[in-house]
Amino acid sequence: MKREPNKEKLKASDVVSIAWRALTVSFRTKSKLSFTVNVLGFAMAFMPVWISTALRTFTDHVQFMSQGQETVSQGLIVFILLISLYIIQAGYTFVSDYCAEIDQQRTTKYIKKTIIDCASRVEYKYIENEGDFREKLAFAEMFGGSQVAASMQQTVVILQQLITFLSIIAVLSNVSAWVVVILLVTCIPAVVLSIIQKDEDYKNNTKNMREGAMSVHLFYMASGANEQCKSMNDVRFYGIYDWIKEKWRDVSSGYLKKKNGITRKHVLYNSIADVLRNAVYIGILLLVAKKIYDNPAMGLGIFMLVFTLSAQLQTATTKVFVGAARFFGDIQYMRDFFQLEDTPKEKLEEHPVVLERADILFDNVSFAYPNADVQALKHIDLTIKQGEKIAIVGENGSGKSTFINLLCGMHQPTSGHITVGGLDAADHLATVRSAISVVFQNFGKYETSIRDNITIGDRTRSATDEELIQLAKKTNAYSLIESQPRGLDEVVGTFSESGNNLSGGQWQKLAITRAIYRDKARIMVLDEPTAALDPVAEAQLYRDFTELTGDKTTILISHRLGITSIVDRILVFADGEIIEEGSHVELMALDGQYAKMYRAQAQWYNEEVDMQGKLVNT
Ligand code: ADP
Ligand code: MG
Repeated sequence: MKREPNKEKLKASDVVSIAWRALTVSFRTKSKLSFTVNVLGFAMAFMPVWISTALRTFTDHVQFMSQGQETVSQGLIVFILLISLYIIQAGYTFVSDYCAEIDQQRTTKYIKKTIIDCASRVEYKYIENEGDFREKLAFAEMFGGSQVAASMQQTVVILQQLITFLSIIAVLSNVSAWVVVILLVTCIPAVVLSIIQKDEDYKNNTKNMREGAMSVHLFYMASGANEQCKSMNDVRFYGIYDWIKEKWRDVSSGYLKKKNGITRKHVLYNSIADVLRNAVYIGILLLVAKKIYDNPAMGLGIFMLVFTLSAQLQTATTKVFVGAARFFGDIQYMRDFFQLEDTPKEKLEEHPVVLERADILFDNVSFAYPNADVQALKHIDLTIKQGEKIAIVGENGSGKSTFINLLCGMHQPTSGHITVGGLDAADHLATVRSAISVVFQNFGKYETSIRDNITIGDRTRSATDEELIQLAKKTNAYSLIESQPRGLDEVVGTFSESGNNLSGGQWQKLAITRAIYRDKARIMVLDEPTAALDPVAEAQLYRDFTELTGDKTTILISHRLGITSIVDRILVFADGEIIEEGSHVELMALDGQYAKMYRAQAQWYNEEVDMQGKLVNT
């Protein structure tokens, strides 16, 4: 997975609109409490100034009391005020820290939700990685998510810190404008460093994405800690743990080395900037001390004021500028995220029409996958009438699954048109999909109950257990339900309590049952539906095929040429084209590609091949 840093230059107007959008998201995801705390925060931003001023007054009172110029009660009032301010500040800090934590979680959740929404609704070509969509998605998940969440939350805080910053400057410049200037200037290195660091981090994160992802992949491969890595038996059989471990160590140490190099540099520079700031702070304190020494009438309070506010100003400056720098650094992550959010979505009609007749028409349809040089389908002209039984055969990579993907509206033709039931499929995605039931070649395996695995085929339909059982009997899935302790309610997959991972064939039986359950569909599409089935189950499926599919149009992709006799018409695909078309008898008579494939397969069975296309014993 490689990801080039996003090179589009950010214009000032982009920055403003991204910042505004971030602010909106930040407020939209806030709880009521957090919203209140944030509003209160604008008043609390003056707290450092209030506290320092109170401290100054108190110090002066103490000094004057000790010189007998004032009574204790006057000092006491200021003392109580001071303590109250401290208590309010402590309380506020506690609540706002808590809210910040919750806000961060809420925003992160919002971002994850957006990522899911995005992945489930974008035009399918993006899922096939148009415009590096998948890398962007992984990137948003890996780095973007937490960064963006933190940064969105930062927007309000930065504004509050700006108030603190300005109020401190106002008070301190009353004492000495020079103090303010010196303090601000010495903060510059830290601020600049922070901006540079953010940019370096972003570039490093994007550039080393591949190593990062590879190191995670290798780790999972060796540890088996991830569902996706199901090759544990293979890895163990070949005894290649050490080999993988070494690869993992190489990749991850290279990755960490680069990362650590940058971290080391950043820590060093930051320390130097800190030393500089502290030296200046001490210098300023000495300066004020000298002023008071020269002019004792000024009172000690002013020392206290400068003592607290100088430190506060340094903190506030760093917070404002570093915060802003971070925010603008994160603008790059946010831009990536918002671009992801704005990826064009599939247009699904709200009220799909129920089609009675779903005749299929491919009118000169060609298609190339995103980023592919060659066309996967070329000039397909085809009509399939409602109720026809079609088989598609052809070598691997000849375009069979692509044809199905286009029919199901996963992709749109590069040129030409597809209509279903007279409606342009591109403009009636939801209608077309609801008219189709499909078992994709890479069908879903849902880690949930057997019941869910079947009924998600049509979530508008409800069925009793008895109906489901009857259905499963028809699709040959009943034995698998019967053997489970909890029957239909048994959770299947790796989350199953009884540890019953289904076999590939059992999953496929569930997928077929799910497709048949979707009984309102007028078209049934089966892409190599028996690839994982045992011969008995396969023979049974084809025997019951007509009964199962009823008056639905059926498009069956299969390498078992023996079954082509049960269909009305066979389409032979080669290199994205339909090169032969007709019934089994017609195609055998043609003696072309189909006849060649058929004879090649028939040899294996050592059977007589009759011209009716029926293999004896099937
Ligand atoms: P079949 O189902 O007949 O085995 P496919 O329809 O899956 O073949 O593939 C047809 C051609 O399209 C092949 O050359 C394959 O490499 C290519 N192809 C399939 N899926 C993709 C994809 N997601 N991106 C790019 N090319 C693809
Ligand atoms: Mg295929």
